Amino acid sequence: MLEIDGLQVEPVIGLEIHVHLRTRTKMWCGCLLAYGAEPNTHVCPVCLGLPGALPVANAEAVALAIRMGIALNCRIAEFSKWDRKSYYYPDLPKNYQISQYDLPLCADGYLEFPFGDAIRKIRITRAHLEEDAGKNIHDIPGLTAVDLNRAGTPLLEIVTEPDLAGAEETREFALQLHRLVRYLGVSDANMQLGQMRFEPNINVRIHADGRVHATPIVEVKNLNSFRSVHGAIDYEIRRQVAAWREDGQVARPGNKANRGWDDNREVTVPQREKEEANDYRYFPDPDLVPVCPDAAQVAAWRLATPELPIPRTDRFISEYKLAPREAPALVDCKATADLLDAAGEFPCDKALLGKHFLSFWSRLANERETTIAGLGVPPRSFSELADLVRDKVINATAAAQIAEEIVARIDGQLGGTGRPGDSDCQRAIPPIDRPEWAPRELADQLGLVQSQDADEIAAWVAAAFEANQKAVGDALANPRKRKAARGFLLGAVMKLSGGKADPRLVGEQIDAELSRRAD
Ligand code: ZN
Ligand code: MN
Repeated sequence: MLEIDGLQVEPVIGLEIHVHLRTRTKMWCGCLLAYGAEPNTHVCPVCLGLPGALPVANAEAVALAIRMGIALNCRIAEFSKWDRKSYYYPDLPKNYQISQYDLPLCADGYLEFPFGDAIRKIRITRAHLEEDAGKNIHDIPGLTAVDLNRAGTPLLEIVTEPDLAGAEETREFALQLHRLVRYLGVSDANMQLGQMRFEPNINVRIHADGRVHATPIVEVKNLNSFRSVHGAIDYEIRRQVAAWREDGQVARPGNKANRGWDDNREVTVPQREKEEANDYRYFPDPDLVPVCPDAAQVAAWRLATPELPIPRTDRFISEYKLAPREAPALVDCKATADLLDAAGEFPCDKALLGKHFLSFWSRLANERETTIAGLGVPPRSFSELADLVRDKVINATAAAQIAEEIVARIDGQLGGTGRPGDSDCQRAIPPIDRPEWAPRELADQLGLVQSQDADEIAAWVAAAFEANQKAVGDALANPRKRKAARGFLLGAVMKLSGGKADPRLVGEQIDAELSRRAD
């Protein structure tokens, strides 16, 4: 419940989400999905809607839709069919969209996610398959062009119950869905490419004079960023309260309206009135056979559903001692999360392993515009490196150096190709495993094994004291400068030793030497 201008206001929000599925080809034909290709170069009689052309459903799209339905705890239909949704628009050459009306592939599910201190459970009404339309292009002065490359792209439409109660919460839900489709490989969900679009249905229940007044429902069309989802809902809540004060209008059949979001002005603007459902004249598509998913296949997909991002994040936080803010970075790329778990299978210090993943392994991946799973490092090398640090064979700086060396050697083998892009969360490359590239081996080769030799360290400490008389003097004369001077001396010893001295032993010797001189 919000308080706006002295009124108790209860936002009621449902969300429709359109997701492009990660298939190779379109929904009803063999045309490739090609983002950013020359207009109208990926078209054929089927997706151009030429008379007589017959669609065939893409089995890969059906499989992805069902796998998503399972992850959303949906009931998977045993019998599902295709329906024509008729409307007329230049980007829709058939004059109807093939969709699913009364028998969607997936229905009655839910998604739970943490929000604030609570777990929110949002019911999923349905998730059905359909096709995207083409695109009208308005950037040529004086005319509108049509690009039909996108026509026929497989779309999963997910519809929630009106269970969301605010802008923040809806944005978080949208983020979690985005994570989930990418994690499962159901969609690349690139928002800039329009691969995931949100349409919130918003109204508010105003509690006033002992009564509840529900404002007319507004559907905000085609939002393609989390920021705009939040902004549009936030704006609508306020606008609807103000409109109700003005005209007292309440929701009734037929007064639902569509609005668009103006990203620059950050306001919603009126659009054409929503057609009544029966204007679409839904009827079963006579060109397509119904879909009857094989029960054994669905059961196999159910079994094969991986640990999902939200529970996996919780596990990573406790198992790898990750900060809650940092954990999602290692979970969201499924291939990298799997790799971390594979590395964690070897007995090792898991907290260090997680720390290394978040620091230098991430950096090395970023530099190569790939994921950690795209580096090609064998799982055992990650854990071995963590153990070398735990056992003080090498220090943290040396660990980063060794990691860099391993990846540079793999670079040499790969010749700069063959790695997945940094947004591909599905693909790991086969690791390149050479005994001579093992971390322990490299620590020796690169001379990075820490010196635990007390005499050797004593010599470096003596040399550092000799060369930095001022710091020594400061530390002795002024207790408040002692900490800074000690750090300075420690740095000097590490430098003298070429990073090989064990910093803990060095610190102990510096302290001992300072105490001795202070007496
Ligand atoms: Zn086609
Ligand atoms: Mn739709």
